[in-house]
Amino acid sequence: MHRISFEFYPPKTDQQRAQFDRTVERLKAYRPEFMSVTFGAGGSTLSQTPETVQRLRAVHALEGVPHLTCVGGSREEIRALLRRYRTLGCTRIVALRGDLPSGMARSGDLRHASELVRLIREEHGNHFHIEVAAYPEVHPQAPDAQADLRHFKAKVEAGASGAITQYFYNADAYFRFVEDARKLGIHVPIVPGIMPIANYAQLRRFSEACGAEIPRWIDRRMRAFGDDGAAIRAFAADVVAALCRRLLAGGAPALHFYTLNLVRPVLAVLQQLQ
Ligand code: FAD
Repeated sequence: MHRISFEFYPPKTDQQRAQFDRTVERLKAYRPEFMSVTFGAGGSTLSQTPETVQRLRAVHALEGVPHLTCVGGSREEIRALLRRYRTLGCTRIVALRGDLPSGMARSGDLRHASELVRLIREEHGNHFHIEVAAYPEVHPQAPDAQADLRHFKAKVEAGASGAITQYFYNADAYFRFVEDARKLGIHVPIVPGIMPIANYAQLRRFSEACGAEIPRWIDRRMRAFGDDGAAIRAFAADVVAALCRRLLAGGAPALHFYTLNLVRPVLAVLQQLQ
């Protein structure tokens, strides 16, 4: 099996925690390199990210990796979180700008993920392996693809060790992005982010917001299945497994799965990859 990692959101209720534990235990069998935990932008005091990272490390004996976003937070809050993660034994971190929830006025001390990467390197030297986000289909707020690539390069120059991409269903977008990044002198590993398809209607809404494209042929097939849940699940797993195979055959260094804390859609893909 190739190098893989899984991403979770922090469970908040007992019921969510029980589901999280079950999902983690099932996915552990695939020997992930790490399990990462998302962080709500601007909500550091409410976030359960540190607790969840600790749970992964202490209860499941896994490499729990925190995401850290900088919008909405002060330098001091970010510094405190970094110290906490270091105390927990973390040596890896996913550094992001994040998106402020609509209506939230507080913009925070840092505006771009590159500034967060710089702060981490200034304060902690080479202690953390830092992953940043990359966008094969271009970040929705970027003026154009070249500007987005330059901003990606700024994160690498600030000290990022690697990148994980936004999800996509078009392998060519990833290959072209990697090629363009290499031409620009970006040589860190760029790991594709893979979104198994769990709830198609929800995925469509989410994709519009984050600028990920669902190819027309997938959309048409999905809609044609109507309420046939079994057919949708089988097709979704086939499409995503085929994407993973193509990415790996084309040189992708690893796969990072967005799990949404659900085990079934990820397992359906992984079983096809074995
Ligand atoms: P940046 O790299 O700062 O880029 C954001 C935008 O600003 C881009 O359009 C870029 O081109 C532009 N930009 C960058 N630098 C400059 C500059 N100097 N001048 C002008 N424009 C600039 N969100 C969360 O809230 N929590 C999470 O846990 C989380 N995890 C994620 C994990 C992965 C792997 C990915 C791909 C995304 C994740 N996100 C998460 C979403 C992410 O926060 C959003 O996509 C956000 O809009 C951008 O974050 P970034 O780190 O890419 O920002």
